[in-house]
Amino acid sequence: MNYFITEEQEEIRKLAEQIREEKILPVREKYDREGIFPRDIIDACSQAGLSGVYIPEEYGGFGGGVMELVIVTEELSVGCLGTSTSYAATALGTFPIIIAGNEEQKKKYLPGIAAGEFIAAFALTEADAGSDPGGIKTTAVKKDGKYILNGTKQWITNGGEADVYTIIAQTDKTRGLRGLSAFIVEKDTPGFTYGKKEDKLGIRASATRELVFEDCAIPEENLLGVPGTGIITTLKTLDRARAGVAAQAVGLAEGAMREAIKYSRERHQFDKPISAFQAVQHILADMAIQVEAARALTYSVARHIDGGAKKFSKEAAIAKTFATDMAMKVTIDAIQVLGGYGYMREYPVEKMMRDAKILQIYEGTNQIQRNEIAASLIKEAAKA
Ligand SMILES: Cc1cc2nc3c(=O)[nH]c(=O)nc-3n(C[C@H](O)[C@H](O)[C@H](O)COP(=O)(O)OP(=O)(O)OC[C@H]3O[C@@H](n4cnc5c(N)ncnc54)[C@H](O)[C@@H]3O)c2cc1C
Repeated sequence: MNYFITEEQEEIRKLAEQIREEKILPVREKYDREGIFPRDIIDACSQAGLSGVYIPEEYGGFGGGVMELVIVTEELSVGCLGTSTSYAATALGTFPIIIAGNEEQKKKYLPGIAAGEFIAAFALTEADAGSDPGGIKTTAVKKDGKYILNGTKQWITNGGEADVYTIIAQTDKTRGLRGLSAFIVEKDTPGFTYGKKEDKLGIRASATRELVFEDCAIPEENLLGVPGTGIITTLKTLDRARAGVAAQAVGLAEGAMREAIKYSRERHQFDKPISAFQAVQHILADMAIQVEAARALTYSVARHIDGGAKKFSKEAAIAKTFATDMAMKVTIDAIQVLGGYGYMREYPVEKMMRDAKILQIYEGTNQIQRNEIAASLIKEAAKA
């Protein structure tokens, strides 16, 4: 389907596609098996100018928005979700600076991220604070012109690999969610260390680590916005980033569908290619219906956000939930089309199915998205 993306967006898409074909596909199986962080591919993205597609031009970026992030993320995800997660997590760590950063902070960090010199990460989750950020225990206490951080963040994508981290911490315990604040923390800050890389079911190339803060002193000027606005910055960040997760789902499912179509034409049973059987054809048709519907929704939400919509939490949650549930189903069905071979590591669809599961969990589980959607619907109805 023609989505009439601009010429520049098409150029970006082609560059991402080229990186996928030339750099990702030859190594994806090895990186998955051995859990290798795809730094070479992230570097290739930077060299192609893809690191800053969503960063404003005045800070060295391409000047695009969520749509450009969606386009790159989708193309990379067709090849490897672990790699696209590593790419997209930098956007997740950068949005808080774009949304809540002051001029000095933007000038200090965004050009380096746009140029690919800095990888970024976003750290909200803790052992007792997953869906509910009200459980955050990491504290940031102001003392002598510095903030002193203490606490441990869990399952942080790009942890240990990133140069710039956005950290959500408590500055006023008495105020609950309104006591959360966002900070920029640079790697190598004394008192900031990492846990081991987690051994995961999927997206194994991506790095997921604990971040440990022990009397970690950061300059006062690293506070993003004013104290107490950390939850607002978080929600605004996730609303944008969820369109990126939807794009990951679209790309992953597209990749699985391509594998299923290819295999169905090659595999012969009962003296026919299995693509001749209507039962198989209908699985493929259902895949195409779902992938295209999710893509149309994802692009629409990205354009809605970039077009200047004031509120888009519900829309971003709808796209994230629909697309990621779709990717789970399509990747499972892809294994079905490949039969026993689909279950084996020599074909990529088993990796795709393992990778798909995380999309229903991170950046807010799909149950939490449904809570958000329902709450918005009920609120809108009450206002009408
Ligand atoms: C590989 C990986 C990478 C990650 N990367 C990052 C990162 O970069 N930065 C970051 O900050 N975090 C990251 N996370 C954390 C991720 O966002 C959380 O895992 C997620 O938000 C869910 O939190 P939880 O795992 O603690 O689940 P819980 O909140 O404990 O939920 C467990 C189950 O209960 C359900 N549930 C909980 N509350 C409700 C409710 N109110 N209504 C209905 N159902 C509910 C959930 O849907 C889920 O099914 C990552 C996680 C993983 C696994």
